[in-house]
Amino acid sequence: MSFTEHLIIGGGISGCTMAKHLSKYQRDFKLLEAQSNLGGRIQSTEQGLDLGPTWYWPHQHGVKTLLNELQLSSFDQYTQGDYVYQQAANAAINRGRDQQGMLSHRVSGGMGAIIDALTKTFPAENILLNSPVVNISKQNDLWHVNLITGETLTCEKLWLALPPRKVASLLKESSVSPALLAHLQSQQTWMSAQAKFVAVYDKAFWREAGLSGQGFSRVGPMVEINDASGFNANSSPAALFGFIGVPATHRQLIDEQQMINACVEQLGKLFGEAALNPISTHYIDWAANEFIASPADIAEPSQHAHFDLARFKAELNRLNLGLIGSEFSQTEPGYIAGAIDHVNNHSKSL
Ligand SMILES: Cc1cc2nc3c(=O)[nH]c(=O)nc-3n(C[C@H](O)[C@H](O)[C@H](O)COP(=O)(O)OP(=O)(O)OC[C@H]3O[C@@H](n4cnc5c(N)ncnc54)[C@H](O)[C@@H]3O)c2cc1C
Repeated sequence: MSFTEHLIIGGGISGCTMAKHLSKYQRDFKLLEAQSNLGGRIQSTEQGLDLGPTWYWPHQHGVKTLLNELQLSSFDQYTQGDYVYQQAANAAINRGRDQQGMLSHRVSGGMGAIIDALTKTFPAENILLNSPVVNISKQNDLWHVNLITGETLTCEKLWLALPPRKVASLLKESSVSPALLAHLQSQQTWMSAQAKFVAVYDKAFWREAGLSGQGFSRVGPMVEINDASGFNANSSPAALFGFIGVPATHRQLIDEQQMINACVEQLGKLFGEAALNPISTHYIDWAANEFIASPADIAEPSQHAHFDLARFKAELNRLNLGLIGSEFSQTEPGYIAGAIDHVNNHSKSL
């Protein structure tokens, strides 16, 4: 059984940002991550195409500050030109122009560049990958954390950088109040029931046709499509991505290749024949990730978490327990901005 002063569970942006702060203050810490890589819901391909989050928005200053600190750049989402829209299966494809499009930003190299840069701010030996935690309990003023390997780690301060329902599945009623446990179970994990499709092309042919790459469909399988190309679509990948509208429970019954074929076919209908021949495709179903989505997340209509921190602050302080996943943020819960702001607030007490 090994002891560390601070222990972080979860290596998404919340856990990695806390690791950055602990490292800066030279605290004794370890980070446990269940999967084989850091990033959690942030996942980008080698070409920098985002399979998880894509955007941050102009008012989210915490993201911009972190990008500056990590010396990363960003660019505006491409929205020039017409969008395309399909109302019904036999209906023609309509074109339209969004006059008041909301400005959104993307990170050069993809959101994964944030995780890559964060990992350079703390020692690699403090990170334990492939280390799913199976149980957490408080005994004699120390937290006991059991790993799937049978190993136990103890710590004084425990930072849970996990979605609330994952926190609830690890904590026992003997350690926290029934009210806190029930509240955790009621908080949804933002976007965890989603699936995304990305198609890569040799050039952004839709731009040449005066299209923004934006598409909306009531037919599916994708309901919303956007340009996913890099900053300079001529020198970096030209791509389109879409959110799948087929509910997670139905997706489980569909073969992955069938879904990919249907997405390519849909892109062909919306953007023309050139869309039928992508160089490569990527498909990710977040609902199938047991370390992100919980059964209740998949069963419910999508909504943001509203964790009542004020109600449980005294209990969390007494327990020496920090809940730092994005969903626990009191501003913008579920967003990257929420995750960064919330962890930065907690770091003031280090
Ligand atoms: C498809 C999609 C699109 C999105 N789009 C946007 C967007 O455009 N803009 C935006 O701001 N946000 C977006 N989001 C939300 C954003 O991704 C999240 O807010 C953010 O990444 C959450 O980070 P986190 O570190 O709090 O949690 P997570 O990224 O969920 O990290 C939790 C980590 O804990 C690990 N873990 C879980 N259980 C255990 C265990 N038992 N033991 C050890 N480790 C464990 C997981 O493996 C994971 O790495 C999107 C999310 C998805 C899925």
